[in-house]
Amino acid sequence: MDWKPIAKTKEHQLVEPNLLDYEETCRTFSWASLEAELRGTCQSQGLNIADIAIDRHATGSRANKTALRFVDRDWNIKNFTYRALKEQTNRFASVLSTLDVGKGDRVFVLAGRIPSLYIAAFGSLKNGSVFCPMFSAFGPEPIFQRLDRGDAKVLVTTELLYRQKVAQSRDRLPNLQHILLADVDDHASEGIWSLPRLMATASPEFAIAPTDPEDMALLHFTSGTTGMPKGAIHVHKAVYQHYMTAKYVLDLHPDDIFWCTADPGWVTGTSYGIIAPLTHGVTSIVDEAEFDADRWYRILETQKVTVWYTAPTAIRRLMRMNINPKSEYDLSHLRLVLSVGEPLNPEAVVWGEEKLGLPIHDNWWQTETGGIMIANYATMDIRPGSMGRPVPGIEAAIVRRKEDGSVEVIDQPGVDGDLALKPGWHSMFRGYLHDEVRYKKCFVGDWYITGDLATRDADGYFWFVGREDDIIKTSGHMVGPFEVESALMEHPAVAEAGVIGKPNPMIGELVKAFVALKPGYQPSDVLKLELIGFARQKLGAAIAPKELEFKDSLPKTRSGKIMRRLLKARELGLPEGDLSTLEQD
Ligand code: ATP
Ligand code: MG
Repeated sequence: MDWKPIAKTKEHQLVEPNLLDYEETCRTFSWASLEAELRGTCQSQGLNIADIAIDRHATGSRANKTALRFVDRDWNIKNFTYRALKEQTNRFASVLSTLDVGKGDRVFVLAGRIPSLYIAAFGSLKNGSVFCPMFSAFGPEPIFQRLDRGDAKVLVTTELLYRQKVAQSRDRLPNLQHILLADVDDHASEGIWSLPRLMATASPEFAIAPTDPEDMALLHFTSGTTGMPKGAIHVHKAVYQHYMTAKYVLDLHPDDIFWCTADPGWVTGTSYGIIAPLTHGVTSIVDEAEFDADRWYRILETQKVTVWYTAPTAIRRLMRMNINPKSEYDLSHLRLVLSVGEPLNPEAVVWGEEKLGLPIHDNWWQTETGGIMIANYATMDIRPGSMGRPVPGIEAAIVRRKEDGSVEVIDQPGVDGDLALKPGWHSMFRGYLHDEVRYKKCFVGDWYITGDLATRDADGYFWFVGREDDIIKTSGHMVGPFEVESALMEHPAVAEAGVIGKPNPMIGELVKAFVALKPGYQPSDVLKLELIGFARQKLGAAIAPKELEFKDSLPKTRSGKIMRRLLKARELGLPEGDLSTLEQD
């Protein structure tokens, strides 16, 4: 598709970006000097994420600066300074050690984006325990599965969530010893404790357990877009990647007000909603409420957000609204907008430039990679539709798997292949929980194979083609759904599109599109033909959808990803598979 690059101008850059010259930064980048820089400021032995994110600031010049600012549903604000966060997380760690919860033990949290979640995350890490977040809207069965598979010893939650979603499975969870209720004043019984009460009497002093950089820190389940969610294991060393990418990709500066809209139930909400901003000592906003366009713009305005990290699904929802943010809200503090989680249609990048006054910076990574791997940078021109270039210190390539099981790098630009990363980066997952075989299969020859297909252009920009599982083989062509969806998105009536391949004896697979319309447009045969014709003009007859169906909305994971496998299963009348992460209205 023919989208013009968006050149970065001085207006886009209210401060001097941390990464000024991409090639030069990559050439001179050294993990050793970054490690030395951070370790030199640590208060504890070894390397602990909570030390890098909180304690080293709490004992320095940022002690009284706001670290986390919570905006609740009624717009009440609650601030935690670095000093206060240190004390609260110390208390939480003290609670754990009093309950005999130790190194490697799993502490799960099932809660909305309330302060206790964030305090539990860092308090667990200080204690050497493993933090395992769960999305609060999960139903009882997905919660049980995660607690069971993840060997939960402690669960931090609220009274209502416990009663509605966990109590009934308690008999099946013999290893779950302690429930810490964040919103009750009194202990209910032995093992079902009032967290505020325990915190009130716990010691505010806590010496962070000596932590090996390779100690397990986080257990994160994947989004379940392609099947059963996998438990990815991460270690404390991942914090180097969080820090580095927050510096070069999020471009954090000391006075930034940063807002990551992701829920910590997904890896983005932990890596960049909890950890990364605090490693830079900035103020991070947490919105306790759910998506609402006016509310979001008001948060950007009233909180004077400077760097905003969100997702394509949210951007597409904003695009659908009849709001002109640049003129209706004061967004003058905003200087960088980023997106991750799904392919970002070029249409959305350009919408940002027009309506927010800033283009949207796409970046790519996965639960397994633990941190951003490929990105568009504040200084670099954006090529709409491209994921950008690998972050310094990361080697990415397009590879082809050969018959003999080995892997070869595809050097020619513009050729599709597996997106692969050279293993060994700090935030690389160290295993899939209880599934060593699957973990091993991800590594072939010298490469970690991501499961996504992509291409690289002559200038080193990576372009997403599709997930391996979603690729459509039609009349001898390999078609990535993203390309077709992006073409449809350019039509003014289309709010969202999901594209699948439907088995067909003549052409292998037939391209079928599911389309949700913007408000003001009605499904009709005329519009259907118009959309198919529109896509044909953009893509050619071989790739354009042959069938198109209107839907009120498309099935998505709770992290906002279109579940093409479900569209396909329903279309073909096949079993729907794991639906634990399906968003249900
Ligand atoms: P599961 O592995 O359980 O099917 P998932 O892969 O969706 O779920 P995540 O780890 O949350 O779980 O998502 C990572 C995937 O999201 C990537 O492998 C890629 O397919 C997609 N993705 C993330 N960012 C981008 C992006 N910028 N462009 C295109 N795809 C992206
Ligand atoms: Mg995945």
